[in-house]
Amino acid sequence: MSPRRDYVGEAPPRHGLLCALCQASTSLTKAHIPPRSAENRGATVKRARPYIEDQVRRLEPPNEGGLWLRTLCQDCNGLASKYDGAYGDFAEALLPHVGGHPLTLPSRNGVPPVAVAPGRVARSVLHAMVALAPSFNVIDRRFVRDLLEDGDDLRLPGGMSLRVALTSDRHARIASAYHLHRVLGVRQDYEAFAEIYFRPLVWLLTGGPSTFGNSLPDQEGWGDATDWIAYTREAQRADLRDVLTRLPHTVHPSHRPGSADQWIEMSGPTSYVLEGRITS
Ligand SMILES: [Zn+2]
Repeated sequence: MSPRRDYVGEAPPRHGLLCALCQASTSLTKAHIPPRSAENRGATVKRARPYIEDQVRRLEPPNEGGLWLRTLCQDCNGLASKYDGAYGDFAEALLPHVGGHPLTLPSRNGVPPVAVAPGRVARSVLHAMVALAPSFNVIDRRFVRDLLEDGDDLRLPGGMSLRVALTSDRHARIASAYHLHRVLGVRQDYEAFAEIYFRPLVWLLTGGPSTFGNSLPDQEGWGDATDWIAYTREAQRADLRDVLTRLPHTVHPSHRPGSADQWIEMSGPTSYVLEGRITS
């Protein structure tokens, strides 16, 4: 008999019985996070779920197929995909600006002069985050409804900020509702309501600036894209330097040298983690 596997968060069949966006349909389709247009494709990205066995964190044997969850209905998936092109263009423009070894971190690089459609990219990211964190419906139903209606007057749930950084790491990870706390060395907190870590971009939906100044994104000076969602859908191109003041390179705290000893991960029944490897 094989030992019981304790997954980090819920097992896939229980992760969303209703569409995470419209809360109506039960006919769920594959939502790719990030969009396929950002190279999240079957042939180049292997996926694997982490689990705990004998108190050791392991990974399932990897499968091809990219990173996806079956949490959106076809209509809501179609709505989200309106913004996939803008996300893919932005990721492609940034790829030449990441390179080198992923563990040379962090550097407070200037923001590269690339084009971005901030309102469209933010919509793509937040649609993906709703697919990843169904508890959006519990904490701010207004936000989910506004996203579904696809209007122009969108705001993030109160007290939340959307942070962004670059990474050259080929390790990928999409996750929701967990915290990491650094318990050795400099005190650091990494609180993820939802997270998309997929080269060249890292997106983190997190709380506001922490009272004690221990937030890892604050300490490393990650970019703040919180107001991007307020940009109109029709604005096609802005210069990234006009909408972001910082864009450092980083590496996920769970993938740094010595991280297994230095950081503890706190997750609960609504947490979800899917990992992957970008092979191309
Ligand atoms: Zn739906």
